[in-house]
Amino acid sequence: MLVGVRSTAAEGARPDDARRHNREAVLRRLHVGGECTRAVLTAELGLNRSTIKAVVDGLAESGWLSERLPSRRSGVGRPSRVVVARPEAAVVLAVDVRVDLVSLALVGLGDKKLGQDSWPLRAGAGAPGEVVTQVVDSARVLENELGVRAVAAGVSVPGVVRQADGLVRKAPQLDWTDVALGKQLKDALRMPVAVASDGELGALAEHTRGVARGESNVVFVACDVGVGCGVISGGAVLRGLGEFGHMVVRPDGRECHCGCRGCWETEMCEAALRRALGLPADTGRGELIVELRKPAADPPAALARFEEFASWLAIGLVNVVNMLAPELVVLGNLLAELPRPVLDAVAAQVGERSMVSRAVGHTRVVASELGAEAQLVGAAELAFGPVLLDAATGAATT
Ligand SMILES: [Zn+2]
Repeated sequence: MLVGVRSTAAEGARPDDARRHNREAVLRRLHVGGECTRAVLTAELGLNRSTIKAVVDGLAESGWLSERLPSRRSGVGRPSRVVVARPEAAVVLAVDVRVDLVSLALVGLGDKKLGQDSWPLRAGAGAPGEVVTQVVDSARVLENELGVRAVAAGVSVPGVVRQADGLVRKAPQLDWTDVALGKQLKDALRMPVAVASDGELGALAEHTRGVARGESNVVFVACDVGVGCGVISGGAVLRGLGEFGHMVVRPDGRECHCGCRGCWETEMCEAALRRALGLPADTGRGELIVELRKPAADPPAALARFEEFASWLAIGLVNVVNMLAPELVVLGNLLAELPRPVLDAVAAQVGERSMVSRAVGHTRVVASELGAEAQLVGAAELAFGPVLLDAATGAATT
C-alpha cells in the first residue's frame, strides 16, 4: 500500500472529480510549500486563473485558507496578496514512541507546531497501557492549554506495524508483541488514529519536508537504540515494511536482541557508535552527540576510529541499494551526526561496491536535516493525509 501520493491538478475530468483534485492540489501545495500568490498557484499547478480563483475562494469560504499581505516583502511597489493555509483549520496530534522517549506535538495545517511535550521511558515503563494513558493525558492537557482540538492522530513506533488498524505486530526494543495500539488510542482519543513504523515516517518526513523533496526513489536509514528504515518508491511511501536492521550482515557477529546473530543493527546502532569512539557503554546520547560533533584534531586518526562502523554501514547500504535501486539514501538521527569525511567514505564505498548504484546514476548518500524531529514530522503528515482528502471533498472547518 502507498501513502503520500501527490495529487495532481485535473481539468477535463468529471466536474466533481476535477473539483476534488484541484482543491486537494491547492491545499497540499499550501500545506507543504507555504504561502504563495494566486499567480504562483496558477503556474505551479498548471491550472487557469479562473479555476484557481474558484478553488481559492471556495476553500477560503470554508475556512481552510485566508489571504493576506506577504510576511516577507520583496521588491518595490504594492505587494501581491498571498494565499495561506489557516493552521487552526485542522490540528493533528503527532506522537513519536521511541525506545527511551515519547514525544508528542499538536500541529496545525501548514506544519505549524502549536505545542509539544515529551517524557523519558525508563526501563520497564514502556508497557503499552501506560504509554496510551500518558499520551492521552498529555494530549488533552496540551489541547486545553492551547484551546484547540485535534481532528486526527499519527503515531510512530519502532517496530513492524499492520497498516489497516495500527496493530504493532512486533516492537522488539519495547518488548511489544501484537499490541492494538491504533485501536486503543482511537478509542481513548475518540479520533482517527494512524500508526506506522519510525522508518516509514522518517521517509515520509524527508520526502515531504526534508532533503528528499521531489525525489521519486529514496531509502531512509536512521539509528538510535535500534535501526529504522523507510522507502519512497515512485514518489510514495511503502507501507508494511519489515525490519532492515535485522538483515544479517555478519553471520559470526554479535548476538542480537531479536535472537539472531550479526544483524545490521548490532553493527551500526548507538552502542556501536560508542564502541567506535571508545566511550563507556553508559554514555548518554547527548554526550555521544557532543563527541560526534567535536572537530577532529587529527582528521586521519578520527576517520580511522570510524573505519569498522563505516564499513558495516556501507555493507548494509550496498545490499539495500542493490535491492531497491534508490537515487538517494538519507541517513537520519545519529547517523546524520557522523563526521562529514565518514559520510563521504560510506558514500564512496556504496558507489564502488553497488552495481545498482552505478546503474541508477550513482546513488547519493546524504545526511537528514530534520534530525531527531523526523518521526514527529512524519507522524503529523500521516495524520494530515485523510484530513486533506476530506477537506478536498468539501467539508468546512469547524
Ligand atoms: Zn536482529
